[in-house]
Amino acid sequence: MILDGITGRVERKYPLNQLSTWKIGGPAEVVYWPENAKDLLSVWQRAKEAEIPVWLIGRGSNLLLPDEGLPGITMVTTALREIHWGDYTVRVEAGYPLARLAQEAGERGWSGLEFARGIPGSIGGAVIMNAGAHGSQIASQIRSVTVLEMDGTLKRLEREELKFAYRFCSLRNQAWVIEVQLAFSRGDREQILKTMKENLVKRSANQPLEKPNAGSVFRNPPGDSAGRLIEAAGWKGKSMGGAQVSEKHANFIVNTGEAKSKDVLALIEAIMKDVRSKYGITLQTEVESISSENLVFAKDLEN
Ligand SMILES: Cc1cc2nc3c(=O)[nH]c(=O)nc-3n(C[C@H](O)[C@H](O)[C@H](O)COP(=O)(O)OP(=O)(O)OC[C@H]3O[C@@H](n4cnc5c(N)ncnc54)[C@H](O)[C@@H]3O)c2cc1C
Repeated sequence: MILDGITGRVERKYPLNQLSTWKIGGPAEVVYWPENAKDLLSVWQRAKEAEIPVWLIGRGSNLLLPDEGLPGITMVTTALREIHWGDYTVRVEAGYPLARLAQEAGERGWSGLEFARGIPGSIGGAVIMNAGAHGSQIASQIRSVTVLEMDGTLKRLEREELKFAYRFCSLRNQAWVIEVQLAFSRGDREQILKTMKENLVKRSANQPLEKPNAGSVFRNPPGDSAGRLIEAAGWKGKSMGGAQVSEKHANFIVNTGEAKSKDVLALIEAIMKDVRSKYGITLQTEVESISSENLVFAKDLEN
């Protein structure tokens, strides 16, 4: 009923592990890939009226999805990919891959997203996470963001109306990013492409890209590195079930084949406890997990 007359792919009992770079997660009751903002909004409104839970996933590269699956409708933004190039600006829908956008801007000789070439998220997820690397972050390029607010209204917010910090955006759990406008500066095409290539080489040397992972698991505490602390505490290479602290980079947890969400959570908890007791530092996770915190609306989570 909720999806009647709506365009876009719909799957029932769909394995969430297909929607996460960690390759973890049980069956989703319904997964829907909206192809335009209008359909996304209609489904959102109908679900709200019916009090059916709704979840939002981008490219699933920063997400731990539950072993028990998800009730209701899991919306995935990856088919929202309209893009309009302007004069050193771009207006792009939330599901567009950030790395591809960075490459395409670089090919034009537009500077600003060199840091993003190796980040496997969507542009919408990148705004929510304020994705960054190599001393830069997406917030610096944002001009405006069009969002779906939780009262069902679409609103365009200018950069000044948003707050960003290290891996933080004031929109998180408050609104869905539908479209983003970014600004670039004129650059040297060859230099931009060279920088991006070098960044990719550094990543493949330092990160366990050959195994399913979700990037850095913990945020860096002020003045220190989470990877350094975890390695110093002796966790490199340690496993719980199918989840293993990477041998290559201690702030990455890799799925060695059959990892469950509960394995990753157990490893995260044990690392946090140990680092706290050895160094008095409380690590905070950078990866998100889907839970009642980011639930949009539901009559009762248990039903
Ligand atoms: C190998 C690897 C390397 C990585 N390197 C980096 C790095 O260098 N720097 C960095 O910052 N991150 C890095 N990441 C993490 C990740 O790619 C980023 O956080 C990315 O921005 C997440 O985007 P996503 O579309 O995958 O979001 P998802 O993982 O799908 O979602 C993350 C959160 O954002 C929410 N969300 C997603 N889309 C939207 C939207 N349109 N509106 C509202 N909420 C939304 C979800 O509900 C969820 O809470 C890396 C990950 C991997 C696997």
